[in-house]
Amino acid sequence: MTAPLKPLVLVVEDEVDLVTLLKYNLEKEGFRTLAAGDGEEALLLAAEQTPHMVLLDWMLPLMSGLEVCRQLRRSSKTRDIPIIMLTARGEEADKVRGLNSGADDYIAKPFSTTELVARMRAVLRRATPNIAEELLTFGDVAMDLAAHRVRRNGRDVHLGPTEFRLLRHFMQHPGRVFSREQLLDIVWGHDVYVEPRTVDVHIRRLRKALNDEEDMDLIRTVRSAGYALDAKSL
Ligand code: CA
Repeated sequence: MTAPLKPLVLVVEDEVDLVTLLKYNLEKEGFRTLAAGDGEEALLLAAEQTPHMVLLDWMLPLMSGLEVCRQLRRSSKTRDIPIIMLTARGEEADKVRGLNSGADDYIAKPFSTTELVARMRAVLRRATPNIAEELLTFGDVAMDLAAHRVRRNGRDVHLGPTEFRLLRHFMQHPGRVFSREQLLDIVWGHDVYVEPRTVDVHIRRLRKALNDEEDMDLIRTVRSAGYALDAKSL
């Protein structure tokens, strides 16, 4: 199977506008989404599709998010799916914590997409390390290693194979400076003889592909030392 390992997220929320917004933002961040408007539908979809994660609203019609959470934990099919509860008030957040509902994390509304996605990635990393490893992010750049796809601020970035390997290495070690010789070893391999200046050519191509007119340059040139992904630009 060569299908890209984009995490599948089940969004359980009855507020249609919020569902639309969440789906839009999560898909932009490299997730696939499913949505359910109530608990029954959520339990059915979770059992059928076994998503990688459930975002579960506390306030749902018919069956509360808490009850959905308990039922997901009870079934062998859905027991191990990580759950993040969405709560409206501090009071509910306290209950989620206090009741030991089985949720892996919770986030209080209103929340920013950045905050939510950071929580989701943390929970995913703990639950399914292989999937988290396939997705690298740095600032507004997202790199899907399995799909061989790079996006910046929602736009596709097209890279040649060498630029792709360069960027992957930088994103795996953000902020660290690598000399041209180190980059040659890591990206081109020991056995290949390439002039150190070749690195500059590919860095130039990488910058050109990555930076749109209004984008900040994420690659820092360190005088007589080499290059780094600029941690200050985060
Ligand atoms: Ca709701």
